[in-house]
Amino acid sequence: MERQQLEQLWEKIKSTVFKDLPVQTLEIWVAPISIKDIVGNKITFELPNKYFYNWLVANGHLDKIYEILCSELNSNEIEIDIEYLQGLPEQRQEEKIEFEYIPEKVFVSKAIFNPEYTFENFITDESNRFAKAVCETAAKNIGTAYNPIFIYAPVGLGKTHLLHAVGNKMLEMSRKFRIAYISANKFVDEYVEALQKNKLDEFRSKFQNSVALLLDDVQFLIGKEKSQEEFFHIFNLLFDNKKQIIITSDRKPQELRGIEERLISRFEWGVVADIGRPSLELRLAILQHKAQRERVYVPEDVLRYIAENITENIRRLIGAFNNVVARSFTENIPLTIDTVKEMLKNFMEPQPPPVSIEKIIDVVCEEFKISKKELLSKKRSEALALPRQFGMYLAKILTDLSYLQIAESFGRKDHTTAYHAYFKVKNLIASNPYYSQLVNRMIENIRK
Ligand code: ADP
Ligand code: MG
Repeated sequence: MERQQLEQLWEKIKSTVFKDLPVQTLEIWVAPISIKDIVGNKITFELPNKYFYNWLVANGHLDKIYEILCSELNSNEIEIDIEYLQGLPEQRQEEKIEFEYIPEKVFVSKAIFNPEYTFENFITDESNRFAKAVCETAAKNIGTAYNPIFIYAPVGLGKTHLLHAVGNKMLEMSRKFRIAYISANKFVDEYVEALQKNKLDEFRSKFQNSVALLLDDVQFLIGKEKSQEEFFHIFNLLFDNKKQIIITSDRKPQELRGIEERLISRFEWGVVADIGRPSLELRLAILQHKAQRERVYVPEDVLRYIAENITENIRRLIGAFNNVVARSFTENIPLTIDTVKEMLKNFMEPQPPPVSIEKIIDVVCEEFKISKKELLSKKRSEALALPRQFGMYLAKILTDLSYLQIAESFGRKDHTTAYHAYFKVKNLIASNPYYSQLVNRMIENIRK
């Protein structure tokens, strides 16, 4: 058959089989498919990879295609053959990257930035919007906007991703930029090695010649006095020369016990931003983004199920997603809530213990320095109304209580009070990072 005829046939199939699908789905799943050729009664389709075949089968599309082909070609014995343009993405690109875009040889610890860790791929909600914003601004205005930047968050919430995004962005602006990216434990290792080999000058010059210093996981400097001293000098040198400095940590500066006071105070010179717990919306959005980028089809309710059940750590969330997708393809398991529940058994976190309303009230009072009696009183002054609204907001997101029950717990009769409080605080958080940090802090204390 002529190329043109093949194309016409495929158009015809598409216009019936896929006619009800949304444009986005068509673009992702259908556009990359083509008919390669027809020889006798054998039709060969070309698909990007096995995921597309699974998608066609799982949604019943292949059966319909078969039917149409039979009638179009006037035959009951046609054979469908599938060819793949590429195999399964077994080895990820990031593992194969060479150091090709490093201009010269001295790049601290041969750093290379993961091309997937970009600002575009960093999805935000209230918990991480501020941290991303300062990093992005700093990457575009090296050393002049915010300096230094100190980001802290528990493991798996995107610190390393942000540092790489900064590096990627800077290199996008100029391939010539030399950027010192290093984790603190690597810093310690290299420093010790330089000392032993008498190559301290060389070690220092790597940093001196960089436009930015991105130090990951600074908590590894705890207790390493000599390394801290060295870092202190490098920090000062770069800072005085208006180089960008960004540091990440698993805890806030004041909690870095075992790190010299003079370093801690420098960490607080510029902007300190935390990344808090990811909301359900964020977790779901991350999975949707990932599925789309990788062109794998996972039903929405399954994505939601994963997002609802893996809540604490984005690395684990993504791990669970990868695991589910891989197993579904290798073992040919359809993705439904039931099968996924089974697959994720090992990934499930123990549920955090339920939060009591009393605990919320205690923490709010402590945070705002007011008494319980005042908080629960009928007084309407702003100084009491705001803490009360935060309390109701926290009760809404941390307990299963209804608006009415929440209102009653705060000495109010009407459920609309709690309802308004919830949306008011939600908006405050969205518009002002100060409030999101405040809420994160209270949640942390409530869960303690
Ligand atoms: P940390 O350094 O804080 O332990 P990472 O930066 O290694 O965490 O992030 C863990 C994983 O989660 C990475 O794959 C990262 O890309 C992903 N991740 C974290 N936050 C986000 C986000 N906001 N959007 C998309 N992916 C994220
Ligand atoms: Mg990290």
